Amino acid sequence: MASLLADTSYPPSLDEESTLTTTLRDWALSHGLVIRAPLQTGEDTDELSTHVPLTLFPSPFPRKLFEEAKGLQTVFNELYVNVANDTEFLNEITKGLAGVDDFMADLWKLHLEVEKETKGKPTQPLTLGVFRSDYLLHTSPSVEPEIRQVELNTISASFGGLSARAADAHRFLLKSGEYPEIDSFSMSEDSMPENPSAKRLASGLAIAHKAYGVQDAVVLFVVQPGERNVFDQRWLEYYLLETHNIRVTRASLQEIAVSGKLDPENKKFGIYSKEVSVVYYRSGYTPADYPTPETWAARKQMELSTAIKCPSLATHFAGAKKIQQVLVEDEVLSKYCPDPRVRARISSTFAEILPLDADSALGKRARELIAVKPEKYVLKPQREGGGNNVYREKIPGFLASLPDETYWNGYILMELIEPPTDVTNLIIRNGKVTSGNVISELGIFGCVLWDTVSGDIKENFEAGWLLRTKFAESEEGGVAAGFGSIDSVLLI
Ligand code: ADP
Ligand code: MG
Ligand code: MG
Repeated sequence: MASLLADTSYPPSLDEESTLTTTLRDWALSHGLVIRAPLQTGEDTDELSTHVPLTLFPSPFPRKLFEEAKGLQTVFNELYVNVANDTEFLNEITKGLAGVDDFMADLWKLHLEVEKETKGKPTQPLTLGVFRSDYLLHTSPSVEPEIRQVELNTISASFGGLSARAADAHRFLLKSGEYPEIDSFSMSEDSMPENPSAKRLASGLAIAHKAYGVQDAVVLFVVQPGERNVFDQRWLEYYLLETHNIRVTRASLQEIAVSGKLDPENKKFGIYSKEVSVVYYRSGYTPADYPTPETWAARKQMELSTAIKCPSLATHFAGAKKIQQVLVEDEVLSKYCPDPRVRARISSTFAEILPLDADSALGKRARELIAVKPEKYVLKPQREGGGNNVYREKIPGFLASLPDETYWNGYILMELIEPPTDVTNLIIRNGKVTSGNVISELGIFGCVLWDTVSGDIKENFEAGWLLRTKFAESEEGGVAAGFGSIDSVLLI
């Protein structure tokens, strides 16, 4: 397997007297780099918080590829805007999912109901996208590392709040002299960049709020009840108030179902007697977020309103893994990205992704690959939030367990990206430090505000980054789910 580091002395080992771990933990707790502790049964401990899982050292990442990923974000923003605007195309895709994925079908049904009720003229033409495009480094013995896109999230892209702090934490350790001196490796403020994610995401929400045009209105954060990753969201709220003088209200879909009101006359959306300018979804991406018909109705009411949605139903849907799969096909991609040079940059980040239908050539190829070399692939359903994928040799048995082959259409087959295997780091979780080989996933945030009727893009910018790092033996990297940690980049 190819290596990322010519020098294997990174990260340097810590001697017995090192205070680095305590210093990092205390910095995290005192700077809001925290997560709510898991619920303990029988005790009233749900108000306890702990530091978020963190790497002790920033993980190495090639500077050129970091810049390339950042540079691609506005291009990806535009691509997904074009996809979200093509509701005919999205409608076609849904037909393939109807009957095999109820959740995606229900989301699209809601979109169609809203389109019908508004007679195709949206009450609010502006939509805000807060996206995150995720990459792993791909290596092979003969090839220099490249970035490969894991997925692009169009709803509830998280960790922009905490991720900025993680870069600050590592920079603090550097400045305070906690990192041991190593001759061969340059740890410097230049190779450990600041991360503007929290501030820029807040700016994205503020731009949408201003476009709505009512200063006293509130940005509604739609959240999950009992969210553990609440402080990540709070940072955006604090920047909105402190930098932009904009207030935030938090409510779950259940609470909105009870207290949210769509004015039948002017179509304004209100909650707790406040007008809502922007609906920012940090919930609503998984079936569990909709426990009652009233929660679906609440989403519909907001969609029907003049509030700017982040994201709209169509934009949410554009982030489906099925869409990612069809965009790999050049004739589809060229429809939404006509410039061949830009298209080449985009598709250079694509891994092989195939559908699983019984009829198309690609579907047939996928079936062959599963039979011959399943160990090179991951199977993904149309779900978000981690923990839903099926890996390697488990794929054939899993597919065989589905009621019948039509259900295979609800999945995509993706080539496994092969990250460098020679990177090690230490991760602190609940105060305990573990070391080992690690894999890092780079996420680049992007904000885009556009007019869905005219197609005009009003704002489009890259909004900082996230580095999540997990031990190499763990297949998924969810931080809140207990697999991963927050990291920052050491540019090499
Ligand atoms: P989700 O929307 O649930 O986050 P992802 O597509 O991001 O779904 O998959 C979850 C995790 O699975 C990723 O963060 C990554 O760790 C791993 N993963 C997904 N696709 C691949 C791939 N093609 N190669 C290697 N690992 C992958
Ligand atoms: Mg996702
Ligand atoms: Mg993901």
